[in-house]
Amino acid sequence: MQRFVIKTGDTNEPALCPLCGRLFDQPQGLQIALADGLTPVCLDCGRRHAAPLLSLIRLASSAERILWKGRPLMSLRLEEWLALENAAWNYVHGNDGRSHS
Ligand SMILES: [Zn+2]
Repeated sequence: MQRFVIKTGDTNEPALCPLCGRLFDQPQGLQIALADGLTPVCLDCGRRHAAPLLSLIRLASSAERILWKGRPLMSLRLEEWLALENAAWNYVHGNDGRSHS
């Protein structure tokens, strides 16, 4: 059984997925990789084999995108609260990161 980790990618150059063999664009920032060798896997394989890690990446990315500006929480717009809530809901319920609504 493969083990997976979350790693930080510093390039968006295309890479071959070690699981399905397809060429994919690596996301800059957090991505799912094989624990052995830290080779990044494509989004489909990450969703299929490591859905909880993908949900965690999406939660972290949503929080970073919305909160990184250091704004007070009370200044967030409704759609920003909903995006954070959606990402948190998916993580807690083990969804693969797609919207629950
Ligand atoms: Zn793949």
